[in-house]
Amino acid sequence: MQTIKHTFIGPIRQAVTMANLPLKGALKDEQLQVIQEAGILIKDEEIYEIGPYWDLYPEAQSIGAEMISLKGDFVALPGLVDCHTHICFGGSRAQDYAMRNAGKSYLEIAKSGGGIWDTVSQTRKASLDKLAQLTVQRANRHLKDGITTIEVKSGYGLAIEEELKMLRAIKLANKNTLADLIPTCLAAHIPPKDFQGTNKDYLKTIADEVFPILKIEGLSNRIDAFIEETAFTAEDIQPYFQKAKEMGFDITVHADQFHAGGSQVAVNIGAISADHLESSTDKEIELLASSDTIAVALPGASLGLGMAYTPARKLLDSGATLAIASDWNPGSAPMGDLLMQASVLGTFEKLSNAEVLAGITYRAAAALGIKNRGTLEVGKLADIILFPTDDYQEITYQQGRLKPTIIIKNGVKV
Ligand SMILES: [Zn+2]
Repeated sequence: MQTIKHTFIGPIRQAVTMANLPLKGALKDEQLQVIQEAGILIKDEEIYEIGPYWDLYPEAQSIGAEMISLKGDFVALPGLVDCHTHICFGGSRAQDYAMRNAGKSYLEIAKSGGGIWDTVSQTRKASLDKLAQLTVQRANRHLKDGITTIEVKSGYGLAIEEELKMLRAIKLANKNTLADLIPTCLAAHIPPKDFQGTNKDYLKTIADEVFPILKIEGLSNRIDAFIEETAFTAEDIQPYFQKAKEMGFDITVHADQFHAGGSQVAVNIGAISADHLESSTDKEIELLASSDTIAVALPGASLGLGMAYTPARKLLDSGATLAIASDWNPGSAPMGDLLMQASVLGTFEKLSNAEVLAGITYRAAAALGIKNRGTLEVGKLADIILFPTDDYQEITYQQGRLKPTIIIKNGVKV
């Protein structure tokens, strides 16, 4: 018989539960549920009770819960969710970064053979084990910063076996880190230079050869594509997404990064999310707001490229769901500090604390189609992070500098 394990944590000065908030639209800080002097009782991997510490204390004691007694002030949040990263890669693009800062554009560098293709070469050279090891290192760094769920894309293989190698590396990495890794197939990142045929031929090859293996090996339930001048057109991608949809994959899109257009594709196909949106106009904002497709802002890419931020304020005011992710990748977003980036986006786009925190918790979980996390509520996964402060407002105020010092993943202290 398996023994049930109970753990009781507290007293927590403020537990910001992120519960009972709408998925869509603007949020005010007054809407946040903040439990003062809270306790959280965990049963195995889940939150069993949450409420005032001294109310729960007798029950915790009577069932023999392991006590994690906190000394000093702490603010609890749900474990953060980063719903868009590319942390499985080989090599570095420090050279690109220097070239961009010296005046070359991202698209110019891409056209001259740098950019994503450089990372493709480095990633193809790396073994599956090496890629898994690099992914684990980056995931563990993220976990230390309080990010307990991390989406990870392929897309630096750009050939059947190379894309599969990346996704198998992500699967292996997931077994070797306490963070949960959510894999996404981004074989449609850019058209591979060395493929003999048209872009449509390439996409057909991936759909025919790779999609079935993703299902058989359980490598990914998500299909992503980059809609852009240097990548794929709306017309290219149509049959590819159609096939993915028929096979039951969730669809997500790199949309409107340099030119508008991708979000239209995303909404038409019923994508779960449209990510980037730095170039979205009022038309795309309206389109996203009236759909179920979640808008994902990637401030790390804006910081890495020195470009405008996603119009987060307008998206929220129009009624869209806004998640915020790091886009951690070797090219445009090398920093990979989600909390810092989300806080800074809040400053530039005038977001409330509630909107910033929602964007990296339950709204980000929704962008991944995951229902069991993102809030501190009974029955949710016990992914809990504790910041050494007495006021939750300090978290965005310190612009990501204040990190959680206690991290609980699946009910276990990391
Ligand atoms: Zn990306």
